[in-house]
Amino acid sequence: MAQRFTDEMVFTLQCVSCQADLRTSIAAQVVIGHYNGGQLAAFRGQCARQACGRTEVLQGAEDVLPLEERIAEWEAMG
Ligand SMILES: [Zn+2]
Repeated sequence: MAQRFTDEMVFTLQCVSCQADLRTSIAAQVVIGHYNGGQLAAFRGQCARQACGRTEVLQGAEDVLPLEERIAEWEAMG
């Protein structure tokens, strides 16, 4: 992944593939990597494939943090 990540991507609030706002989507989201200790997420399926070559979460992979926690961290950063 050589792309730059936006602040919202780093806080798991934006899909790293299509830049969709994850706060307003109920589509399944999967962790596709990490950056600066935070999670990077994409939508399951095509977005995840673009981001990391997989369409599904690996067995045993972590879940995306609850949306409320992500938003709280984002707001705490101001
Ligand atoms: Zn996407």
